[in-house]
Amino acid sequence: MNVFETLESEVRSYSRSWPTVFDRANGSWLHDESGKPYLDFFAGAGALNYGHNNPILKRALIEYIERDGVTHSLDMGTVAKRDFLNTFKQVVLEPRGLDYKVQFPGPTGANSVESALKLVRKVTGRESVINFTNAFHGMTLGALSVTGNSMKRGGAGIPLVHATPMPYDNFLDGQTPDFLWLERLLEDSGSGLNEPAAVIVETLQGEGGINVARVEWLRALSELCKRHGMLLIVDDVQMGCGRTGPFFSFEAAGIVPDIVCLSKSIGGYGLPMALTLLRPELDVWEPGEHNGTFRGNNPAFITAAAALQEYWTSDLLEKGTLAKGEHIGRALESLAETIPGLEARGRGLARGLAFDDAEQAGQVCRAAFDRGLLMETSGPESEVAKLMPALTITDEEVDKGLAIVTDAVHAVCG
Ligand code: PMP
Repeated sequence: MNVFETLESEVRSYSRSWPTVFDRANGSWLHDESGKPYLDFFAGAGALNYGHNNPILKRALIEYIERDGVTHSLDMGTVAKRDFLNTFKQVVLEPRGLDYKVQFPGPTGANSVESALKLVRKVTGRESVINFTNAFHGMTLGALSVTGNSMKRGGAGIPLVHATPMPYDNFLDGQTPDFLWLERLLEDSGSGLNEPAAVIVETLQGEGGINVARVEWLRALSELCKRHGMLLIVDDVQMGCGRTGPFFSFEAAGIVPDIVCLSKSIGGYGLPMALTLLRPELDVWEPGEHNGTFRGNNPAFITAAAALQEYWTSDLLEKGTLAKGEHIGRALESLAETIPGLEARGRGLARGLAFDDAEQAGQVCRAAFDRGLLMETSGPESEVAKLMPALTITDEEVDKGLAIVTDAVHAVCG
């Protein structure tokens, strides 16, 4: 029996599709302990946008450790934190004309979502939050209560707490370009939907099955929030840091959220780090009101700053991501045309193949694994095979991966 099955129940959910033990990783490749290479189309669920052991980030990290830089600092001031904040301001915020305060909410995406949910309630004095069907915001109680996937909540009997689910852009037959129906609910005192504090949304739902919200839908949502005094929280934990092309996924829609949740690839090297960005006037936190032991992960500040300097002071990564994404998109469209019921989805380097028969998605991921490629399923029934390579993947690696995916789909679907 596999040692993990006897000792580690937590690892089960992932090792189901990838039954091996990984040892080394470099760029877009993982190697198992027997030395077999796997092309990584998973990229740490979006936490490894710059690839495994990225040499530039690795060098910055080694130098920092060798000079005995501060590792752990809670909320103390450190040079690494100050340098990160200055770099984030100069490289990310100022060129986009964005004015946000940066909060370190804790090490994970869920920590960022929790801080956003707490803050909108404190700022507005209102309780409820509008969330969307198939949304995923994390596994803590508050984040789960705005998560649309009932399997994630249901096992623990967690209800939607002060959350009102609404259909995401592609949820209903035909899409929902305007929000007249929601506006009526908000205005009618008999609807039971008076004055939500905020709306929390992903511009592209990763865990929800690579559901892309159209820019018009996002704009209409942003306008609706303004009209009704609801704060707009964009959860960019998975789709931020360039996954859809621009640094923030909402840039394509030209909207400016009140609050932005960032994590996963912000640390750059796979080190835990999260940010909550707030419009300055929303910063009503009292000192110590939202704290946490691992908010001051200095090695992550070092790799985060190095990643911003390397990849976001020019538009090369963004352009490359869009070009590779379109290439993958075209290949998946052609593949989908050959298989009845198969649908290609996505934007940038967040791509998916949605299967009519949910089991097929898992079988395709398994067939891809057998052929040396890692990808994961997503969606409410795990019916979508998700392709999320590192943004630094080469064109040759993309084509190699696409060949494996195509072969795996044909092997499963005939
Ligand atoms: N929000 C989104 C959109 C996510 O995709 C995730 C993680 N998949 C989270 C929040 C939660 O992040 P974490 O797992 O770091 O808590």
